[in-house]
Order: sequence, then structure tokens, then C-alpha cells
Amino acid sequence: MDNLELLSDYSSFLREKKEEGKKIIGFISHDNIPEELFDAAGFIPLRLLFAGNDEFMDASHDYLPPSTCAFAQSCIGLFSLKPNQYEFLDLIDYFIVSNHCVSDICASEIISKRFDIPRLNFYIPYTNNENSIKYFKLELLELKKQLEEINGKEIKDENLKESIKKYNSFKRKLLDFSFLNISGSEKLKILQKAILYGPFFLPELESFFEQRSDNEIQTSFNSKEVLLTGGSIFINDPLIDLVEEGGGNITFFDSWIGNNYYSQIIANDILDSIKNPYDILVHRFKNNNFGDHSVPNFLENKILQLEKIYQDHLKKTGRKLGIINHIIKFCDHISLLSSHLKNRLQEKGIQVLNLERDYSRAIRGQLSTRIEAFLEMI
Ligand code: SF4
Repeated sequence: MDNLELLSDYSSFLREKKEEGKKIIGFISHDNIPEELFDAAGFIPLRLLFAGNDEFMDASHDYLPPSTCAFAQSCIGLFSLKPNQYEFLDLIDYFIVSNHCVSDICASEIISKRFDIPRLNFYIPYTNNENSIKYFKLELLELKKQLEEINGKEIKDENLKESIKKYNSFKRKLLDFSFLNISGSEKLKILQKAILYGPFFLPELESFFEQRSDNEIQTSFNSKEVLLTGGSIFINDPLIDLVEEGGGNITFFDSWIGNNYYSQIIANDILDSIKNPYDILVHRFKNNNFGDHSVPNFLENKILQLEKIYQDHLKKTGRKLGIINHIIKFCDHISLLSSHLKNRLQEKGIQVLNLERDYSRAIRGQLSTRIEAFLEMI
């Protein structure tokens, strides 16, 4: 399925949901947004995970300077141009203004204000300590209040718990899926679609497993194996094609569209023992040690995590993984720490490519050359 078909199907899906009386909440796709709470309140969460061309970036320059990160630029450009295949953006009823980073907050405010979408605020602490955890819970309760005011009715605790369990099962299945030995591009397409649709995608995911259980899953590729960390590859971004054309295969996606999303599974004993569902969401936030809102230990945790994945893979397959740290241009969260991350991992004998780029077509040749040279070294 190409992206046009995916976007057209998604448009029809959202229209159906609107006809059923559901409201749609848009937000920029990052970490720690409690989509279970939207689900429990009867809303459909719409993650913005589209980027990959010059036009969206250029169209954002009427609102923010080009020194804003390329993904945030693309999110604004998407609303400004609104090409036909993205007509579903007109269906968004509310937009979350959150603070994953400065670009996120600026882009979300502009989208809400300039494109007339009422905003809902949800701020997330940058640190992970006793006080920030209390603050996170207050924000959850405040968001609950905002949603209840819109609906004119209470969100019941049992409904939220059901939604948490539903998303949890979905993430478990996605985690299983992530280990399938299929090509990176095929895997990414399914991950993008799954994260876009959320648990509505579960039956399709299950049928994918059934169809593939008859030895159809490829067991080996001749390509060099790559772990992608840093920024996600969003829908319409050709980066994965450049990696595959250069002789690589991304076997592990360590980003928001990837491990960072489906690894945040809540254990059954926690689901059973914590009665208050808001405390379950707080527990997940507290344990999100690899997200970049986990100051002060984020970088150390990330290095340990990447080293472990690398060593496990080496032990299991006898092959080395190369790491591409994908830095979306002007993404401070990832670029500021990238030299340190690379040096520390290289000291351990792990090859890392810090690949900084925006979505311009003009630099694709350059990107291919850098990727090919890196893959040669693995
Ligand atoms: S700066 Fe980085 S974290 Fe922020 S919106 Fe851009 S890609 Fe996301």
C-alpha cells in the first residue's frame, strides 16, 4: 500500500468516526501524551507523523523562521497547504499544546491559533524526580477536567483502566511484531500505520502474524544491519529507501515511531495492584527512562540501552549492528547530545553515524553518499 492509499483510507476511517459522533484530538507525535485518556473520554487521538518534503517546510516560513526544526516546520506546513490527501486535518476538533521541546510548543500554538483549532494544554515535566512526578499527575487531572468540560460528563476510572489495558495489549503485539525478520521498509510501513490508527489496527496486525506464520518470513538479508536512533522516520520521508538502496536494512527502530512507543508496556502486576488509573499513567511516566524528558540521566540510560541492544544482537546473530543517529535539522534534543553519544559508543567499538538532515530533495544525493560510506565501514 502506498502512502496515498494509506492517507485516503485514514481519511475515510476518521470520517466514519465523526459520523459516530466522536471528536478528534490532534497532537504532535512525541512521548508522554496520554492517548488512553482521550480514548476513555470517547475521543480519537490523531498523531501528526507526516513529514518528508520541501513544500511543507517552505510553507511554514510565513509563521516561524527556517531555524525551527524540520519536523515542526512540516507540521505547520501541512496545515497551511492542506493538500487533498490530508483533508482529514479539517476534522480535528481540538489540538494539544504540549512542551516536548520548544519547537513542539511553538508549532502547536501556531497550529491552534492560526488554523482555528481550540487548544487543550498538557505540560510535561523535563525532570524525573518526586516533585515532577506529582506535577505530572496534576497535569493529567487537569487534562481530564478539560475533556470532561467538553463532553459534559465524567470520565469514569473503570473506562480509563479499560483504555489503558487496550493500549497495553496493542503495544505488546507491536513489540512482538518489531522482532519479525522482515525488511526495515516493510516493518516501518506497518509501524507507522499502527501508531496512526492505534488499537483499531490490532485485528490487521494479528492477521499479519497469521499470514506470515507459514514460513513466509524471510530469515536472512544480505544487507548490513542498522539500528536507527534519534528522530523518527515519518510518513512520506524517503530516508529508509536511501538506507536500503545503500545496502542497509534497519532492523531496530529506537525512536518515537518504534521502540520508544511500544516498549512502554505496563506489567500485569502493576495493572492489578495500582487501583487509581491516573497513578498507572504516572508510573509509566516515572519509568520512561529512555525518553528525553528523563533529565538528568537520559543520556547515560540511552548509551546503556543502545550498548545492550548491540551486544544482544551480536551474541544472537554473530553480526554487528551499525547505529544511525537520525538528527532532524535544528532538533536540539537530539543534536546537542549527538557528539557525546557517538564518542561514548565508538569507545566501545560500536560504529555510529550522526546523520543530520532536513527534508530538502536537494540533499538526498549527499545523504546517500554518507549512508553508503558508513555502511561500507560496518
Ligand atoms: S525539535 Fe526534535 S523533539 Fe522537537 S519537534 Fe523537532 S524533532 Fe521533535
